[in-house]
Amino acid sequence: MLDAEVRELMQPFVLSDYQVQEVYSRFCLEVARGLKRSTHPQANVKCFPTYVQDLPTGDEMGKYLALDLGGTNFRVLLVSLKGHHDATVDSQIYAVPKDLMVGPGVDLFDHIAGCLAKFVEKHDMKTAYLPLGFTFSFPCVQLGLKEGILVRWTKGFDCAGVEGEDVGRMLHEAIQRRGDADIAVVAILNDTTGTLMSCAHRNADCRVGVIVGTGCNACYVEDVENVDLLRADFKKTKRSVIVNAEWGAFGEGGQLDFVRTEYDREVDEKSLNRSEQLFEKMTAGMYLGNLVRLVLLRALERKLIFKQSSRRPEFASVLQRNEEVFETRYISEIEDDSFPEFASTRKIVKNLFGLEKASVEDCQTLRYICECVAKRAATLVAIGVSGLVNRTSNRRVIVGMDGSVYRYHPKFDAYMRQTLQKLVKADKEWDIMLSEDGSGRGAALVAAVASKTK
Ligand code: BGC
Ligand code: MG
Repeated sequence: MLDAEVRELMQPFVLSDYQVQEVYSRFCLEVARGLKRSTHPQANVKCFPTYVQDLPTGDEMGKYLALDLGGTNFRVLLVSLKGHHDATVDSQIYAVPKDLMVGPGVDLFDHIAGCLAKFVEKHDMKTAYLPLGFTFSFPCVQLGLKEGILVRWTKGFDCAGVEGEDVGRMLHEAIQRRGDADIAVVAILNDTTGTLMSCAHRNADCRVGVIVGTGCNACYVEDVENVDLLRADFKKTKRSVIVNAEWGAFGEGGQLDFVRTEYDREVDEKSLNRSEQLFEKMTAGMYLGNLVRLVLLRALERKLIFKQSSRRPEFASVLQRNEEVFETRYISEIEDDSFPEFASTRKIVKNLFGLEKASVEDCQTLRYICECVAKRAATLVAIGVSGLVNRTSNRRVIVGMDGSVYRYHPKFDAYMRQTLQKLVKADKEWDIMLSEDGSGRGAALVAAVASKTK
């Protein structure tokens, strides 16, 4: 049985129907404001046009390189599109050392170009001409398919000299500086766009792409006449365009203050990008573990967990060591555990605190804390998804999803569906599908579609 006091502790994370409706209305308003030229500068959901106007048909062919920067790992991929909705992907993960994440931007791009050169060498493609799609998962103003100006860093990146610059050009210049491969950057895209494209490659009804990973964001297909910021010449021949919502910034105008908790405020205050990306800080993998950590500290202080142990102050100091001690993946592992064995929960508790035998009650309390934090995240994500699904002009809408939180959390999908059922208009038919390699296959598809239209 859960203690009434534990329920009370978690109450701020439980969104009422009224709060869900209210966040939904405010979100829809911000999307509309982001799209309109007159309100765009003040809006916090920017709704950037991506210049991707064609969804894949499935018959795309050819070999493409792809780069994926913006999650926990940096990857280089070689994608072979084979027609008939088929593709193979060969990829290599490279580390991005912490100092490169906050050092000079040029060093970051030199590192990327270096990894790219190694990859090309290994695959014996040094002499081949290779088109490259660059999945760069940060807010960018796009002026065309291959120009993206970084608006701001997110997710713990903060390299000098990149904000305000064209990252396509910076990558191109880094490749040129090495001069050892014939690679052309033909497209810059967001990971949400990659997800949408890779899902649309499999299912023609896909109209929304969502990432709930290290960061959180979505894109969707919008009618060109609603996208004021899209250059006029792109409205003549095509009826729609993918819009990168950049919903992570939602709440920066105070719209979420009525649901944000003291823990959310602390996460924000200690972050590298204070008062920015407030919706992201309630939903993304980079922050969920930290939220649980802060709640656990409060629970220890109020003697709501590990009541039998005299070592509570010691546990608290473990949690105070740094913001990452309680990893977001623990939330998934704990919610996946079985009652009353709690094998993984006990293992996590043992590794963190050196506590040999956590009681069933302690495990239940810990699980409830994780559940409330994850469920709120899923509910908020679903509020955003509903807003975008309701905007699309299709009756059938498939939502393509990716990211470690969505992929590995055992109940995230189910939590999301509960909210989608409440908010998506009754005349829509919707479903969620998991993306297969959006940042690789998606990038190649954008590159392929780009060369088709040329
Ligand atoms: C970025 C988005 C990205 C998302 C998921 C956010 O921090 O602003 O561009 O799509 O993370 O990677
Ligand atoms: Mg900054």
